[in-house]
Amino acid sequence: MDSSIIGKIDKARKYAEEKERVTISELSVRFEGNHNTYQVDFRSGNWSCECHFFETRAVCSHIMALQRMLAGMLAQKQNATAAS
Ligand SMILES: [Zn+2]
Repeated sequence: MDSSIIGKIDKARKYAEEKERVTISELSVRFEGNHNTYQVDFRSGNWSCECHFFETRAVCSHIMALQRMLAGMLAQKQNATAAS
């Protein structure tokens, strides 16, 4: 392997430890729940999920799980207040 690639791999390892460098602005996920697989999307700071719970509550376990997995990496909702 040439030395410039080795340097890039080394840098990638360091970057991978520094989540704050990454902001996810859009995301499209197939989420395998216990009973079904759901399409979950994240766009402009807004989540959507095709599960029934989301339809009535605007939040669900699939979205909450992804928020935990991706903590600190998700773009903030546009025009949102700073409070959270
Ligand atoms: Zn859901």
